[in-house]
Amino acid sequence: GLPATPPPVLSERRKTRQLHVGPVGVGSDYPISVQSMTTTNTADVNATLQQIAELTAAGCDIVRVACPSADDAEALPAIASKSQIPVIADIHFQPKYVFAAIEAGCAAVRVNPGNIKKFDDKVAEIARAAKDHGTPIRIGVNAGSLDKRLMEKYGKATPEALAESALWEASLFAEHDFHDLKISVKHNDPVVMVRAYEILAEQCDYPLHLGVTEAGPAFQGTIKSAVAFGALLRQGIGDTIRVSLSAPPVEEVKVGAQILQSLNLRPRKLEIVSCPSCGRAQVDVYKLADEVTAGLEGMEVPLRVAVMGCVVNGPGEAREADLGVASGNGKGQIFVKGEVIKTVPEHQIVETLIEEAMRIAEETGEA
Ligand code: SF4
Repeated sequence: GLPATPPPVLSERRKTRQLHVGPVGVGSDYPISVQSMTTTNTADVNATLQQIAELTAAGCDIVRVACPSADDAEALPAIASKSQIPVIADIHFQPKYVFAAIEAGCAAVRVNPGNIKKFDDKVAEIARAAKDHGTPIRIGVNAGSLDKRLMEKYGKATPEALAESALWEASLFAEHDFHDLKISVKHNDPVVMVRAYEILAEQCDYPLHLGVTEAGPAFQGTIKSAVAFGALLRQGIGDTIRVSLSAPPVEEVKVGAQILQSLNLRPRKLEIVSCPSCGRAQVDVYKLADEVTAGLEGMEVPLRVAVMGCVVNGPGEAREADLGVASGNGKGQIFVKGEVIKTVPEHQIVETLIEEAMRIAEETGEA
């Protein structure tokens, strides 16, 4: 067939160093990856691997696991070797677990310099162990645990303070000729967070991991993350992302994937173009859109499906979509590539759309 034209994007990626988290390339030469974090007890290997499998199925590229105790550290070799996606160990407070995670074969280790006592003195040893094993390190600065010196200097976790903390730690690793670093500077305020990443982007070429921390429950957290990531991705900033939600991690992955898909930074799969409904609607658009979304969930072929409440915009939107329906008078006009192929009674709309979607998917598969 014809070579596919890549869909337009808003900006070029900021040029970064490249690194590998297991088989996943991170940096401007590679697609932006979606991360999440398990909520199971890491020491419960089966439960953790089960959740990792669910995250993988939802589109997660890299997973992080907490390692607060010796039991968790002991579980790392089994988790790292059996997970389908690379595992990053998340270490706070106890530097000995940094070494345990590296030894365990974790694909990377996240350290929070603000939460590890005398971190600066330990950098040489961490750099040596990480280099020996080819393990990248994420310097994960967090507003809630900012280095005391910087808190004293700036009074609070300002963008400058967050960036300075991360860049200082990176410079210590660089002194030991260790450069396989990724940086994050998370804050719960998208404005502070965006500004902090902008400063980092100006001052270094390390890959950046984006996150709005403690973003809140699903609704608020989704919006905070989407606007903050959008503002940065618009400038080409961001190499991996994690949406933090007070909700199951699979939801984080779905939101992260959707943010990237919305900006053409990840191939789109199923996309429902549904109208908001209005006084003209003669069908319950919300219900119809939900049913169509549920019916088509998991389709691997990219498909744009228009669900319209009436014929005003129906034919127009449906022409741009692969498939669509415009409803009215208890019936649905089914469109394929903008042509009405049939009109079905309202109760058959969902099944007909699913049938047609399958047919299109099969044809696309053969092409
Ligand atoms: Fe209203 Fe029809 Fe537009 Fe839906 S498609 S918002 S029902 S005019």
